[in-house]
Order: sequence, then C-alpha cells, then structure tokens
Amino acid sequence: MAEPIRYRVDLADRVHHLVRVTVVVPQDLARGGRVVLSVWTPGSYVVRDYVHHVQTIAAHDADGDAVPLGRDGGTAWRLPEEAPGPVEVTLELYANDLTVRTNHVDDHHALLIPAATFPYVEGGEDRPHEVHLPPFPADHTVYSLLPAGPAPDTYVAEHRDHLIDSAFEVGDLPTLDFEVAGVPHRFVWAGHGGAPDLDRVANDATAIGEACLALFGGDLPTDHYTYLTVGWDTGGGGLEHRDGTVLQMPIHVFQDEDLYARFQTLLAHEYLHLWNVKRLVPAALVRPAYDRPTRSESLWVAEGWTAYYDELLPTRAGVWTTTRLLDTLASTWQRVSENPGAHRQSLRQASYEAWIKHYVHDENSPNVMTDYYGHGSLVAFELDLRLRAADPTGDGLDAVFTSLWQRHARTEDGYTEDDVLEAIAAHGGDELAALVETRVAVPGLPELDEVVRTVGLVWGEKGGPATPSLGVRVEESDAGVTFASVLRDGPAWRAGVTGGDRLVAIDGRTVARGLLDVTLRAHDPGDTVEVAVARGPRLLHLPVTLGEPVPTRTLRPADDATDVQRGAFARWAGQPLPES
Ligand SMILES: [Zn+2]
Repeated sequence: MAEPIRYRVDLADRVHHLVRVTVVVPQDLARGGRVVLSVWTPGSYVVRDYVHHVQTIAAHDADGDAVPLGRDGGTAWRLPEEAPGPVEVTLELYANDLTVRTNHVDDHHALLIPAATFPYVEGGEDRPHEVHLPPFPADHTVYSLLPAGPAPDTYVAEHRDHLIDSAFEVGDLPTLDFEVAGVPHRFVWAGHGGAPDLDRVANDATAIGEACLALFGGDLPTDHYTYLTVGWDTGGGGLEHRDGTVLQMPIHVFQDEDLYARFQTLLAHEYLHLWNVKRLVPAALVRPAYDRPTRSESLWVAEGWTAYYDELLPTRAGVWTTTRLLDTLASTWQRVSENPGAHRQSLRQASYEAWIKHYVHDENSPNVMTDYYGHGSLVAFELDLRLRAADPTGDGLDAVFTSLWQRHARTEDGYTEDDVLEAIAAHGGDELAALVETRVAVPGLPELDEVVRTVGLVWGEKGGPATPSLGVRVEESDAGVTFASVLRDGPAWRAGVTGGDRLVAIDGRTVARGLLDVTLRAHDPGDTVEVAVARGPRLLHLPVTLGEPVPTRTLRPADDATDVQRGAFARWAGQPLPES
C-alpha cells in the first residue's frame, strides 16, 4: 500500500488571517518531487492564482533539517533529487478573502477551500489524502465534508480530487442536523452574526431535497450532505462540492423575504449539483487539471439547466409561490435579452470562454458576452415547453435529464454535448434536437413568445410610467450615479458615452442617487438632452437623443387557459395554475 499524502493544518494565528499548512511528501515521491498549488477550484471557472496568498514556504526532513526547495513555474516547487526520506513542506497562507471559492480565517471562523489550501504532490494524486485539522481554540468544532479518519481530528479523502472537492469550516457555530430521505444532512451557519432561522432552513432544504430526488428518482447519491454557510454584510453565492456545498449570504438574509427567496434558489441550485455536475459530469471536467484552466462547452447544461431548475424546484417543493416563479422567469428574460452580448456570443462560446469572460467582468461585458446561467436557463425553459407541447401529459425536460442521469452518471467519460442532443432527440425528435443545437451554437435568444401557452401562460407588459431610454446600466451610491456599462448601439452609446463615465448632470442639473429615471421621465423619447459626465480628469458634455422606453415583460396566467394547459402547468410547476 502506497503511503497516503498527509497534511496538517495549524490555525493558531487565525486572528491575523494566517493558516499554516504542512504537506508530508512521502519518501517514494520526495526525490525530485513536485508540490503544486492549484490555480482554480472546481465550479468556479477562472484562474485565481491561489499562490498569491503564500507568505512563506519551507521544506524540512524528518530530523528538522532544512531541505532546499526550488521554484518550478508560477505555482509549483521542486524538491532536490537527493531529497532524503519523507519531506515536510510548510506554507503560511494569508486567508482574508470571504467568498465561497477563497479562504477566510479570522477570530470568528475558518473557511478553508481545499484548492486554495492544500498543495498536491505530483504522482500521489490517486492515493488517500489525510488532513489533520485540530480546532483552534480547542472548544471550536471542525465541520468537514470528508469522513473522519481513525486518528483524532483527522479527515480522509479517497484521493486528491476528493480532497479538493471537500471544504472545511471551523468555529463555534449554530448547526442543525436533519434528514432527507433517511440521509443525514447538516446545516452550519458561519455568518458573522445574524439570526439564522435554522428550522426554516431545514424545512426548506428538506422539501427542496425531496423535489430534487423526485426529479431524478432512485436514492440520494450521497450518504451525508453538509451546507457550510458563511455570512457577511453583503455578497452572495454558492459553490458545489461532492457531498455538500459552501454558501454565502448577507447575515440579514433570514429577515428579508426577497433575499431569503434567493437563498432558497441557492439551496436548490447547489443541491441539484449533487446530480448535475458532481456525478453527471461534462467530459472535460471528469479529471480536470488543477494547474491550468480546464475548458468545457457544456456549461449551458451544467449551469444553465441547474439555474432553470433552481427556480422550478422550490416551486415544486411548495416553498415558492407560482407568482414568484413567473416573476423570476420574466426577469431572467428581461436581464438576458437586454444584453447586446446575447446576440454576439453563443452559449457554447460563453461556456468555453467562462475563464476569460464570465468571471472577468468589465464595463464592456454586457456588449460582448452572454450569461450561460440565465441564457442557458431560458434555452432549458424553451426546450422544456416544446417537449411538454408535444406531450402535455409527459415530463418534459425532467425525462431528458433523468435519462442523461441514468446513462452517464458516474461514468469514466462523463457526457458530451452530443450525448445531450441524443437524449433530446430520443424524447423530442431530431428536429427539436437540431433546434437546441442552433440555440447553443448561434448567438441569439430562444423563442418563448408562443410556446409559454403550453402551460397556460402569456406574456404581458408591466404598466406604470414609461422612462425614455438612455441604454445604460447604472451603479448608484451616495456619491451619485455612474454608467457602469453603456449598451452597444443604444442612445448613450451613439452619443459617445462610455462605461465608467460618472454622471454629473442632465441639462445642467445634477442627478442624485435614485433620481435618474424621474429625471428622464421629464422628457419624451426623441428629445435630445445634454449629458455631462466626468471621465477621468475630463468633463464632457454629450448630447444624447433619448430612445423609446424598454418595456418590462411579465409572465402571467392566460385568462382562457384550457384544461390541458392547466394540467401541463401543474405537472410542470407542481402547483395549480394561479388565477390570472
Ligand atoms: Zn452552479
């Protein structure tokens, strides 16, 4: 039996955001051995160069004598050819970046993201990886997604990839244990304060979990699941792991219904990844490299379909109203369709280029890229509706998803885009598969105008005052209004306004936070206003001819929905079609 790769973690200096991590390079891998820190973590497709946070690194032999350690590329180190016996390599890491993909260690807690924490030993990737992580201070608790090992304070991963897929949290933290389908689940609240409603979370997570299980059938694909949830004053997001998730929300999430609704979609989204992504894996991500980007063209399934179901499943679970579902679908349409980039970047490109576009936003992003989450979910919505139109008593996209699961889950090769199209063809015919192929390969939006009728819905427009359009995205603060982005070919774009310009005045009058729309409503579309902006050191006066208001679409029940459509809605949403 090959020696496992062993790690020790020391949190004694957590108050200064410092973590000391030691990896023991086994004797048989020490000579000329290579130790590598990952540059990204699965589920978040951008090079993060975790090596940035390495403060010091040093190697010692079993007697404590220093072993020279050479740099070998940007993120790896090499031991000498004459390295004696096993070698311990110790890194001091700075950990003060609270996101679900980065380390954060302070007086309150320690969130350790393995890719950012544990350098791997080349050649030892397939061996068991053991982590010795005693709590500090001693009365805190370690929450691991890994099973505990035989030694105290030790956790064991089957191999390197399992370790990288298993975050740690340490603290004196509110937790609640519950079961979904007989499987133990644990919710850990690592918010920096807040008043978590643990019972509500457990009820919702159980209902959502059962809805996920009903979608795929069979047993839960894990024997334990842990939600590590961090909280701060702002921010949000989630990252899937093999047997759990790391979530982040503002600490007042439990007191704000709209924020909480977003949290419910996060619970559903990451839980769905237990199936989609973690076990039903895009081919390129089955055995990824961690020292460079691993690109996939299938994120429109991996994330787009997951994003579609993360709203549908809370509805099926009964924790969302159908009104919230319809409002959310309509706002996804609005957000995606207003981006000029949806007509310039295909979903396939968006997926492949996630590393350089989706995760690397700038002021021009809305013009050149589309979002494989939102855009992907709209394509999933269209596909689902067309399948249900062909068979109103069938299970639509659920059936395609399930058959992909049955054929390709936990396989050596994962699934390819062709496998997805094949499954669509098997359920909906070649023509529908060809349509989806077009939706993925060609920039542009799906056609949802008529097909929503399948489930008894119609599009409408929100009433209320109409605002002549500037064609901008704004960021507001107490300091005023900034044009975060200027949408290509819109009114501001044509006048030469640029993303990043700070709005100083319109027609000689300043515009404070929250007052841009009312200022514009004093004008009619076609009017020319003088927009004064500060751009770096310059003050510019630009005449902008206002455009037609952009209508806000709504999705609502049709007055004349038929019984078949009502039946299809109930099968789709898990609740009856609401009254119009
Ligand atoms: Zn996701």
